[in-house]
Amino acid sequence: MTSKLVDQLINDNLVPLKPYESARRLFSGGQDWLNANESPFANPYDIDSDNFNRYPSCQPDKVISGYAKYAEVNSSQLIVTRGADEGIELLIRTFCTPGEDNILICPPTYGMYAISAETCDVGIKRVPLNNDFSLDVDGICATDNVNLVFICAPNNPTGTQVSSADLTRVLEHFADSALVVVDEAYIEFDIDNTWATQLDAYPNLVILRTLSKAFALAGLRCGFTMANEDIIQALLKVIAPYPIPEPVAQIVEQALSQNNIERMRQQVAFLNEQRDALQQALAQRPGVELLGDVKANFILFRHKQSAQIMQYLVSQGMLIRDQSKQMNLQHCLRVTVGNAEQNQRLLSLLDTYFEQAGASS
Ligand SMILES: *Cc1c(COP(=O)(O)O)cnc(C)c1O
Repeated sequence: MTSKLVDQLINDNLVPLKPYESARRLFSGGQDWLNANESPFANPYDIDSDNFNRYPSCQPDKVISGYAKYAEVNSSQLIVTRGADEGIELLIRTFCTPGEDNILICPPTYGMYAISAETCDVGIKRVPLNNDFSLDVDGICATDNVNLVFICAPNNPTGTQVSSADLTRVLEHFADSALVVVDEAYIEFDIDNTWATQLDAYPNLVILRTLSKAFALAGLRCGFTMANEDIIQALLKVIAPYPIPEPVAQIVEQALSQNNIERMRQQVAFLNEQRDALQQALAQRPGVELLGDVKANFILFRHKQSAQIMQYLVSQGMLIRDQSKQMNLQHCLRVTVGNAEQNQRLLSLLDTYFEQAGASS
């Protein structure tokens, strides 16, 4: 219920919006969380409270230098944000004029590009992915009046990579008219395909990164935007004065130590193995049609009884993500790769469901 005063004062563009249905908001209970593409690993860190009376640095040196070294970019090509989500919003607020400008997105894809644009009263042009989830490059290049082109690679929720030839065409087409934002939230699961090495070649390239997925630090809220220095300087005009809390900076510094980067790579290798095994096992279940690819830490599949499967799993405390409302993803579910126990439990629950339902394709 909104009060009369709220109705009277609220920005008109916010009236039709609803709060984002994050995996966390949708379900409060549950025991197995395979719905938000989080890591199953909870790694230990230390906190030193000596300076908690002081405001933190806006862009903590050790965070910036540590990530620049890890990502092999220059420190001037990097800004740290409260999650990659803040990077998305900063880009929109910095480079789009409300009520005038547009972003371009390629659904089905990550939801926050559209949500951030809507809350900022920025227009959204949609060029759906092709049937095989590749980019419709002709469609993208035929779209004018866009300031930001968001391309998620690997794409959430399809798990597909973007071909380098396609992305090159998009970057070149928009060289003088738009920034091309490549969201690499899952790049550690497909590290050979990063675009971070291409910043010098493309002045309009922007790359989003996060510590929420492979680095197993979703609770920290820490992400990075990488681009050439003039773009970073523009974002620094808009970012809050103290976006990164001191405890967060301390943990990030530890997470980016050589040992902990090595630990992250081992955990990624483990998850990639688990994912391939889970994918094979899912493919053998009755009526399951695998969709897209598995270049990240999740698997997308379609089943005629997706709604009932979802309901049954929720009733058993096993939470996965319903994607059926996304464009072209009717009856689709996305499951995050968990630890060995969780993946096994998911398969057992599915078997129980299929036995009870007497399901067939
Ligand atoms: C999870 C995710 C993000 C958000 O990352 P945060 O750093 O947790 O805000 C951004 N993009 C994609 C594609 C994601 O899946």
